[in-house]
Amino acid sequence: MSSLNPLAFSVTVLTPLRSASGWTRGMPPPPSHSLSAPHRLVARPLVPRPLSLSRGPCAALSEPAVQPLPDPAPNNPTPADPDETVNAYVLDPALPSDPLSSPTIDQLVSRLEHDEPPHSPHRPRRSVLSSSRDQTLSVHAGERVRGGRKTKAMLDAIQTPIVQSATFTFRSTQDCIDYNRGMYDSFEYGRYGNPTTRAVEEKIMALDHAEDCLLSASGMNAVTTMLLALVPQGGHVVTTTDCYRRTRQFVNTMLPKMGIGCTVLDPADMDGLKATFEKHEASVYFSESPTNPMIRVVDVPRIVELCRQYNVISVFDTTFATPVNFRPMDFGADLVLHSGTKYLAGHQDVMSGALTGRGDLIDKVRKLHGVLGGVVDPHAAYLINRGMKTLGLRVEAHNKNAETVARYLKSHPKVARVNYPTVDTHPDFAVANSLFDKGFGGVLSFELVGDGNAWSGETFRAGGRFVDGLRIAYIGPSLGGCETIVEQVCIMGYFDQPLRERQRLGINNGLIRLACGIEDTNDLVDDIEAALSGV
Ligand SMILES: *Cc1c(COP(=O)(O)O)cnc(C)c1O
Repeated sequence: MSSLNPLAFSVTVLTPLRSASGWTRGMPPPPSHSLSAPHRLVARPLVPRPLSLSRGPCAALSEPAVQPLPDPAPNNPTPADPDETVNAYVLDPALPSDPLSSPTIDQLVSRLEHDEPPHSPHRPRRSVLSSSRDQTLSVHAGERVRGGRKTKAMLDAIQTPIVQSATFTFRSTQDCIDYNRGMYDSFEYGRYGNPTTRAVEEKIMALDHAEDCLLSASGMNAVTTMLLALVPQGGHVVTTTDCYRRTRQFVNTMLPKMGIGCTVLDPADMDGLKATFEKHEASVYFSESPTNPMIRVVDVPRIVELCRQYNVISVFDTTFATPVNFRPMDFGADLVLHSGTKYLAGHQDVMSGALTGRGDLIDKVRKLHGVLGGVVDPHAAYLINRGMKTLGLRVEAHNKNAETVARYLKSHPKVARVNYPTVDTHPDFAVANSLFDKGFGGVLSFELVGDGNAWSGETFRAGGRFVDGLRIAYIGPSLGGCETIVEQVCIMGYFDQPLRERQRLGINNGLIRLACGIEDTNDLVDDIEAALSGV
């Protein structure tokens, strides 16, 4: 086998990007062969494929007319079949006849400094440094020749390196051909994948008990790419009422342009769900669990069963739960979505989204992701990886804080209602407590009594007094970091919304969302007690 790209394979041979079901960088699967059982493909005609967008991100929507091929020269038997790819020209694939004789990774690493690609014996590329001038040296010295202890250290570093590279190169034309034919796994271009990003994907999919994971630039990018990839033109989507506002906006304003309809149901409305599946040929069911800001929990096992019956893809946004508290995949869900910006990364310093689940579905979304281009930066991926090392510890602290605060607020005379699944008046109390066993995350919401009218100006002002009376919590949107964050919901996300819309969603003037951080529980309760006394 010819040598591999040293930077890339140091991470990727151990973490192959290609899933069992196919090719991941927007290209169709290569002809059937594998690293473990290579076979020669000399001038073997490929199975002709129809031209389509799925052929790859570069494919034009309308292909130019096929040019007639010149007659092949008599001494160069070039196939003249317009269905052939350049693979037909590969005369010497140079595959090892015995796959067991393939070099190990350690052997490849130690050979990098000494091996030259076989096709330039008279002008070895490494010798360019000894004959170059300053500006060429500025660009290439120290980096051009890879291998030795630099490469070894990259393999042995305790932390996954930040591979801050938009492009991955090939050591020879043969390498490039081998890569395209699937003879080895690496990366080619940052929009289709990156080793640092892949490490995070593997961490999240392990936690979610999923077959694959796609990391992307934000939670919203994961939502929109997933829906665009999985819902056909004229299709139908089902979501729940208490769903992330931007998701609702996308479903209501963008999807109709593709003739895609939507039914919005109460999270607990199972009869409505069945009726919707009877009435519409739905493609995707998508709900958060727990939801924002009412912390509703959906009956995942029953929904999954119904979705299977009607051949609908079930997707659950478990940003608020994290895999620590709840794994829909354990109940047969098809896909799970996370805003990695929140608990996964956990430090309010980086944005990301993750989609995990069935390999065939992730493949589909990954292909469109390579076209739409909402990739996460490798440095951001590093931060997510770092943040996730403490996920279990942090979520345990978030759970404890929110549960304690909910219990405290429940018995407070100035609080009319507490939305958290440990409170027995919660509409999904039974379902939530049967599905979750560790806790429900750090976010809870509650309604202040105010003057007794949830929609009055005085209740609105009471909300402001409470928020301003807190000393530990920051005032702001978002959640999932180490710091407690508070918001009066009607001001933060719904300032521009008419009363009618807020009434429909139950976002009243006294509704407060508290995203507990990981501070000491007693300090948080003391702070809330003091703030309530001044309301
Ligand atoms: C924040 C959030 C999103 C959107 O994620 P971004 O990373 O902000 O794009 C989606 N779903 C839920 C439940 C969220 O909390």
